[in-house]
Order: sequence, then structure tokens, then C-alpha cells
Amino acid sequence: MKLHELTIEEAHNLLKKKEISSQELTGAVFDRIDAVESKVNAYIAHSRDQAMRQAAGADKAIADGRCLPLTGIPLAVKDLICTRNFPTTCGSKILEGFTPPYDATVIRKLEEAGAVIVGKLNMDEFAMGSSTENSGIKITGNPWDITRIPGGSSGGSAAAVAADMCLGALGSDTGGSIRQPASHCGVAGLKPTYGRVSRFGLVAFASSLDQIGPLGKNVADCAHLLNAVAGYDRRDSTSVPEDVPDYTAALTGDLKGLTIGIPEEYSAAEGLDPAVLSAVNDAVAVLESLGARRAKVSLPHTEYAVAVYYVIAPSEASSNLARYDGVKYGFRNPDSSELMNMYRRTRSRGFGPEVQRRIIIGTYCLSAGYYDAYYGKASQVRTLIMEDFKKAFDTCDVIVCPVAPTAAFKIGEKIDDPLTMYLSDIFTLSANLAGIPGMSVPCGFTTDGLPIGLQIMAKHFDEEKIFKAAYGFEQATEFHQKKPNL
Ligand code: GLN
Repeated sequence: MKLHELTIEEAHNLLKKKEISSQELTGAVFDRIDAVESKVNAYIAHSRDQAMRQAAGADKAIADGRCLPLTGIPLAVKDLICTRNFPTTCGSKILEGFTPPYDATVIRKLEEAGAVIVGKLNMDEFAMGSSTENSGIKITGNPWDITRIPGGSSGGSAAAVAADMCLGALGSDTGGSIRQPASHCGVAGLKPTYGRVSRFGLVAFASSLDQIGPLGKNVADCAHLLNAVAGYDRRDSTSVPEDVPDYTAALTGDLKGLTIGIPEEYSAAEGLDPAVLSAVNDAVAVLESLGARRAKVSLPHTEYAVAVYYVIAPSEASSNLARYDGVKYGFRNPDSSELMNMYRRTRSRGFGPEVQRRIIIGTYCLSAGYYDAYYGKASQVRTLIMEDFKKAFDTCDVIVCPVAPTAAFKIGEKIDDPLTMYLSDIFTLSANLAGIPGMSVPCGFTTDGLPIGLQIMAKHFDEEKIFKAAYGFEQATEFHQKKPNL
């Protein structure tokens, strides 16, 4: 058995029985990184020494009889989650040399759970993108076809999990950035309800949309990861003081009585590849065969989601990114004659083209005289999108649809055409605008052997229903067991 190929649950069972040690497991993961990282390019930073020290600590805890589900498990996190022990770049040159003086709450929670932190994963700069090509550091390849994008913005997270370079990972999702790369890399990924997981120490992109969530080799691993990181945090005023259930209790496989809503607007979406539509339709049939009932639902304001998101997200980003001025963090342009010139040069050289594009759009949308017409109007339509979901969930438990209109595209294919790139977010943006949870689980392959994901959404704080449906589907199918040939 290859240790790096284990799921979190499998590794936990072996660690608990002391059939393997965390040091062996962690060593195997680093050997795997040494073997395939030059092809995949998933990591921005990793440290074998640091991880081996944590693994030794975990082995001691296990010897003392303390073996929680994540104790001794090698995990990695997207590089916009603040870590005291690693630099945090957000995939941007502007944060060059910046090491946060504190850990994000999710890091503290993973460490309390006994996890081993392998390193930091590549991403689109400040999480803006759908392909990880906007990283200012490197280009990540899709483990299923290295000439293709892994999705984004958490492309490093999805690629590392798919390529067995960590057992599980955390990403962030502002408009699809966990679900879409999970779909393209054939792994499971969940965007929790807004407020379910603390954003303290998550570098902000669009504060009203951002949420941290897990990526795993299967649904159960995502449930274990969410168990560890979810919950109220007094350091994040948007985290919600609601009890966290044990998400693994939802992994029953029993779908009787579950109603799945199929949004009528989604199958007619522009650019939807017939292979994706047919995989999703087949998945619905599988869910029905397990006892779920299908219902038609309508989300009539879906057509505005891209426009609304691409006003709200850049507006919030333009404000959040004002802090990178060459004074407080990371990169400062060295040869500036005076202050304004230093700001200007630092920001023009430190930020890449997509980030600059969004700062310009966002600054315009928020400017005096335009605020009502753009951000204000977009917020009103956002409320209509939220209400669509509210109504739909009166008649169904979960909504099922595609994650992305196509499978992974070629590196370079859409990079010069931002609008086409934005349109590929059509199925994922609405969940962030509404604040509801959504998950991607593998549901098929194209004729080229590229993974296709199924999206399952539920109402606020109803992650358990998603886990129930996703787990039932996974148990009845084999898509999650297939591995890329690297
Ligand atoms: N693709 C979307 C964007 O570029 C979503 C990114 C995200 O979820 N971080 O904004």
C-alpha cells in the first residue's frame, strides 16, 4: 500500500491501531512531493523539517492515547491563509517576503486537532481567477493532464489533493474557488455556509462572499475537515454562534425522503458542454435510484449572477486591497522619488494584470455618483438571487446542477479573454451571493478522461444534507476512486 494514496479516514484507522506512524506517513507525502511537484507545481512553500517535527509530536500524542480524526494527518492550505511558520503570498508579488505574525483561526484549529501542516498551496493572485493562471508565482498543472488548468482559484489545493501530495487541503471560495478546481481535478470540495468557518487570518478578497472550506479525496474526508475547522470565533464578527454538528453523522448513504431540486434555468446555460450535462443527468438518476425524489425548481435571477458578482467582488476587492501600499507589507518599489510615486510604482509592479483590472472596475463602481447605480443596484439583485433560493428550498432539500460548464481547459486558452473566463463561473457564483453551502463531487469523465463534478447546494447551515446526498452518491459510484496517471 502506498501511504500517500491513503484517505484521511484510512490513514486515521492505521495511525490509531499504530500500524503506521505519522512520521512514516508524512515522509511518504514529502517523497511524493519530491517525485511529482516539478510537473504539478502545486506548492508555493513546504517544509519537511517542520512537518516532521509536528509528525513526531502527533506520534507522541497517539502513543499517549490521543488520536483525533486529524491527528498526525499531513494537510496543506491555500496560500492566503495566514501562517506564522510560512510566508503568506496570496500568489502575489506584492506580498513578497511577508510572513504573518499570527496564525489564522483555521490553522490554530487544525493544529489543535493534531494535524501536520505540509505547506502552502498555489492560487490565482488574491483568489481572483478560475484557472490559477493568475498566480504571480507559478503555473499549476492539472494532474489529469498537465497541459490543462487545475481550475481556480484554489488550483494548488485541488491539484495537491488529486496528486496525493497531501491527504487533504483547505481552500477558499468567493465565487466557486473550492468547487470549480475540485470539479476539474476529480476531488471533493465544499464551500460551507457564509459564517460557518472563521475568516480570521484569511486574507480578504471580497469580504461578503469569502469562505474557507475543505478539499478531500472523498466526501467523508471533507466532513472530518469541516468538523475540525467550523464554528464561532470571537475574532470574526461574521462567524455565526451556532452549534457545529458532527458532520460525519450525515454519512449514512440513506437518501430516502430527500428531495433534489433541478433548476430549470441551468440546463439551458450558454456554453454548457453536453458531456457535462449528461454526466449531471446520470448523477440525478443515481440519486433517484437511491430513494431521492426529483423536483423542478426555478432560479429565475440566475442570468444576472455573473454581472452582479463581477460588480460586488471587484468593489469589495478594491477596498480590501488598498492596504497594499508598499509601507505595511511585503514588496516596496525600491527607486521611487517621493511617496505618491512609491505607492503608484509599488502597486503597478506588485499586482498582476487581473488584480489591477479588478481594482479599476471596483474603484469605478464605488466612486461618488456611481455607487447607487452599480454596487447598490447589484446588492438589490443579489437579494433577488437569495430569495430565489429561499423559495426553491421550500420545495426541495438540495439543489443539484453542474459545477462548471466544461471540463478543464488548456493552459493559455482563455487567459487573454477575461469575459469568457468570468462566464465559466455561472454555476458557482450564486451560492456565494446567497451565502449558502455548495459542494462538488466527482460524477464522470469526458471522452478525454477529464473529471466532471456534480454540484450539490443546500440552504444556510444545512451542510448535513449536502454530505448525505454526496456520500450516498459516492458510495453508489466509482468516479472518486480513479486516480490520475502522473
Ligand atoms: N472565479 C471567480 C473570480 O475570479 C471566483 C474566485 C473565487 O472564488 N475566489 O472571482
